[in-house]
Amino acid sequence: MVYGFLIDMDGVIYRGSELIPGSDRFIHELRTRNIPFRFLTNNSQRTRRDVAAKLSRMGIEVEEEHIFTCAMATARFLAQQKPNGTAFVIGEGGLLTALHENGYAVVDHDPDYVVVGEGRTFNLELVEAAVRMIMRGAKLIATNLDPNCPTQSGLRPGCGAMVAMLETATGTKAFSVGKPSPVMMRAARKELGLTTDETVMIGDTMETDILGGVQLGFHTVLVLSGGTSKEDLDGYTYRPKIVVESLAELAEMMERTDWRPFWQPGVTPKRDLRPTRPPAVLPS
Ligand SMILES: [Mg+2]
Repeated sequence: MVYGFLIDMDGVIYRGSELIPGSDRFIHELRTRNIPFRFLTNNSQRTRRDVAAKLSRMGIEVEEEHIFTCAMATARFLAQQKPNGTAFVIGEGGLLTALHENGYAVVDHDPDYVVVGEGRTFNLELVEAAVRMIMRGAKLIATNLDPNCPTQSGLRPGCGAMVAMLETATGTKAFSVGKPSPVMMRAARKELGLTTDETVMIGDTMETDILGGVQLGFHTVLVLSGGTSKEDLDGYTYRPKIVVESLAELAEMMERTDWRPFWQPGVTPKRDLRPTRPPAVLPS
């Protein structure tokens, strides 16, 4: 029974620089059992090498090929739409590297696209330049539309907030590539090399991970170790297939079927984990 996982990172694997207990063991099991997986992130700041290094510092050993960022999805999408194009970039290393790797030149005059990603380099000079380029015909591309991102010291504005400023100023709508866009969800599934029904999306955010998974027809797992609580679920018209506290609980559930996909029909627990006999009562 073939299956594999697309796994969001922030709120699933770690919170800031803190590992969520049990996530390392879950990834270790996937590696040991040769279950395919990819990490899927809407953060365009880091290259896949940066991301692998961050995970390694937390004790999770993965290869670069296990990482799929919205910066990569955006650059590949643009390379398909307009090979060898030019881009004016408001963003950081991950996005610049991905564009270069996909045959794009980063320019500051007359670009084909204005591409916006996460970063701390955002300033009004860049915004002014971008607005003028868009008014002259450059197309506005967002790596994602996340309104904000959690950090250790609280929320910071996300890529979506920066993009909203450009949209309002120019009266145009950005095309967004990151989760939940089918562009990124489908590209990630192809990276995994699996079919829709074999793909399971694990995430902590309803608006991106779960919505994207539901729209593509993947199986979906919501973990409550990040930004969503059980009570929040009532406010949504779509639902995840499985809800767990964290990857530690998902690992426990997988254990019961010896890591066969319990969400598929016909997969039954391999062994009963309930005690087969009542506990012995000592004579008084
Ligand atoms: Mg997340």
